[in-house]
Amino acid sequence: PDFIKVSTLAEKIKRPATEILKKLILMGVMVSINHEISFEVAEKIAEQYNILVEKEVKLEREEVLINDFEDKKEDLMSRPPVVTVMGHVDHGKTSLLDSIRHAKVVETEAGGITQHIGAYTVDIDEKKIVFLDTPGHEAFTAMRARGAQVTDIAILVVAADDGVMPQTVEAINHAKAANVPIIVAINKIDKPGANPDRVKQELTEYGLVAEDWGGDTICVPVSAKTKVGIDTLLEMILLVAEMQELKANPNRTAKGTIIEAKLDKGRGPVATAIVQKGTLKVGDSVIAGNTYGKIRALVDDKGKKVKSAGPSIPVEILGLSEVPNAGDILYTVADEKTARQISELRKEKERQQYFASTAKVTLEDLFSQI
Ligand code: GDP
Ligand code: MG
Repeated sequence: PDFIKVSTLAEKIKRPATEILKKLILMGVMVSINHEISFEVAEKIAEQYNILVEKEVKLEREEVLINDFEDKKEDLMSRPPVVTVMGHVDHGKTSLLDSIRHAKVVETEAGGITQHIGAYTVDIDEKKIVFLDTPGHEAFTAMRARGAQVTDIAILVVAADDGVMPQTVEAINHAKAANVPIIVAINKIDKPGANPDRVKQELTEYGLVAEDWGGDTICVPVSAKTKVGIDTLLEMILLVAEMQELKANPNRTAKGTIIEAKLDKGRGPVATAIVQKGTLKVGDSVIAGNTYGKIRALVDDKGKKVKSAGPSIPVEILGLSEVPNAGDILYTVADEKTARQISELRKEKERQQYFASTAKVTLEDLFSQI
């Protein structure tokens, strides 16, 4: 059934709420202006003013406005893998991400400062790998909970001198639940107490059997400190990506996921998205969660302004009306007006859900006090 708040009805038919309340009382409906009445009752009220009311079919409207179609096989082209680094605290996730970045990302001409936009791209010959900058399964799980899956491959970092620890197991479980292939980076092999075989032994208890032990889990001994094994790790990532046959259609309106967002003093709302389908362009009108905007500028992970970003490529977006949430799905839509419309529909839906949930809480509170 559809319901409308008395105050909303009053607004829509441009009559004082008190007048509507009086009419409701005459119909035997005793409510306050914050109560919701059924569509049928609202219709009867409106009839008295010679107004025809129509139901707003919100979800369908939104789907029509967002054109998220399936691509034809022949339009798909291979895209770079998006990689997340996971593992127990202090096993070297951040160090590994840093050493990959420094080994492989050419520093920018201007002072050698690479920008942190939440993800970075590494070039290996003609191929690319995209690394999410925020390690840990929290970000990964939070995004998955919102229906966003950006990760194609998980790198499980296990310190060779410490072995499998609780968060290692959690990471394994998350990656498995998301059906994301795992590559194990056995880190800190430079340390005297390093024992890669013990790590492999412990991993078998969680269904990860190393290739040299007859299983199919790729394990690469590395040292984030001395950079040993980093190149092999990158090669293995490309190998796994090739087996996955990651593809997307670059020639269509864009769909992506927000991986990071903030309010920048000078630039306003700034969000980093990873494009998943299509190509995002400067001038595109977009919707991301509740927020919308017309893209004023796109900035890549080297801090360079770019005109567009294709599948798997992380890019910073300027021009959004507000700060979106990490995990929000971004779509390019027809024009700014459409984007604003979807944003308003979503905000209204959110308000209704909020009121519905607070009403429920109040009722429960009430009962608990009796
Ligand atoms: P995270 O919590 O998983 O992000 O771990 P960090 O990257 O912060 O690393 C934790 C500690 O281990 C730091 O003191 C690092 O310097 C050290 N570390 C990381 N990788 C290596 C490595 O390959 N060899 C050695 N010897 N130390 C490492
Ligand atoms: Mg860290």
